[in-house]
Amino acid sequence: MVEAAHRVVLEQQAVEKIESGDLPVPGSGVTRAGAGSGLACNLCAQEIEKSKIEYEVEWCKGEAVRLLRFHLDCFQAWISNRPEPDR
Ligand SMILES: [Zn+2]
Repeated sequence: MVEAAHRVVLEQQAVEKIESGDLPVPGSGVTRAGAGSGLACNLCAQEIEKSKIEYEVEWCKGEAVRLLRFHLDCFQAWISNRPEPDR
């Protein structure tokens, strides 16, 4: 299935970006969904078209707040790397 393979690639990219510090570990920060801004996605670097849904995540990095933008697929790939909750 092409779709599943694409998802695996996105998840792998997300893992690499989390490890390199380009993306935060998922699970914290304010998340909003809205209309696409036409700006680049923070995971796949493709433009998020205005007709698409965009997920925005506020990332507090030290004293700065960065606004991350994701496609729906990219957001799901990133959030799937959330650490398991403590039991
Ligand atoms: Zn994307």
